[in-house]
Amino acid sequence: MTEPILTTRSLRKSFGALAATDDVSLDLRPGEIHALIGPNGAGKSTLIKQIAGEIAPDSGTIHFAGQDITTKHAAARARLGMARTYQISSVAPDFTVLQNVVLSLVARHHGAFGLFRNVLKDRRLTDAAREHIARAGLSGRERQRATDLSHGERRRLEIAMALAQSPKLFLLDEPMAGLGTEGASELTGLLDGLRQQAPILLVEHDMDAVFALADRISVLVYGRVIATGTVAEIRANAEVRTAYLGE
Ligand code: ADP
Ligand code: MG
Repeated sequence: MTEPILTTRSLRKSFGALAATDDVSLDLRPGEIHALIGPNGAGKSTLIKQIAGEIAPDSGTIHFAGQDITTKHAAARARLGMARTYQISSVAPDFTVLQNVVLSLVARHHGAFGLFRNVLKDRRLTDAAREHIARAGLSGRERQRATDLSHGERRRLEIAMALAQSPKLFLLDEPMAGLGTEGASELTGLLDGLRQQAPILLVEHDMDAVFALADRISVLVYGRVIATGTVAEIRANAEVRTAYLGE
């Protein structure tokens, strides 16, 4: 079996007396979509934040792309290829779709020093940006200001910006949230293709999307992983059915 790209071992994070994540060990293999499901407050976002470097774990380790990154800053993890989407703050609302993706490309390769206005006209950069925009299903929207995009288009812009970072891993926290049925099914198709670029750790409440996409599912309840398995295994798991699927 191929080496996992991401491994967490015994991650724990408490807020006061509450263990938001408790002994969480999971891994993400190349090419897979690993879904993380569980009731509200189970610790899913806290786990994603620990992996992204936004919250330091109290104990446990995180390995990514062959390195121990447990104490690395979020920016260093991003440079290693960890793409965290659904970070509204990363989208500049008054810039166009094309400009946002170009800036994301430049930030990846040149850091803040590259942020001069003329990069927005650099043909090589705009051509590369257009490819990412197309892969994210936003062709034709290049000149639209980000602030004028619909909710679903905005999600696609975030994905185009993540693609510009040459990601080795996508961390997605509830990407379907706020999308209608049609938007969710479009995004499901898009994510399905993204796994070829990089594996996805997908936190999602939309079970249609999870069952359609996930190669494996981990179920988090009160901060603990109570089960990990394929869609069929998780659907057949009696403990999961009572704890989460409400059957
Ligand atoms: P989920 O994403 O699964 O809904 P969260 O990771 O957001 O769950 O939260 C897990 C638990 O940790 C919840 O009980 C939540 O109230 C608590 N929590 C999350 N972040 C904080 C914080 N910064 N301070 C205190 N408690 C927090
Ligand atoms: Mg959450």
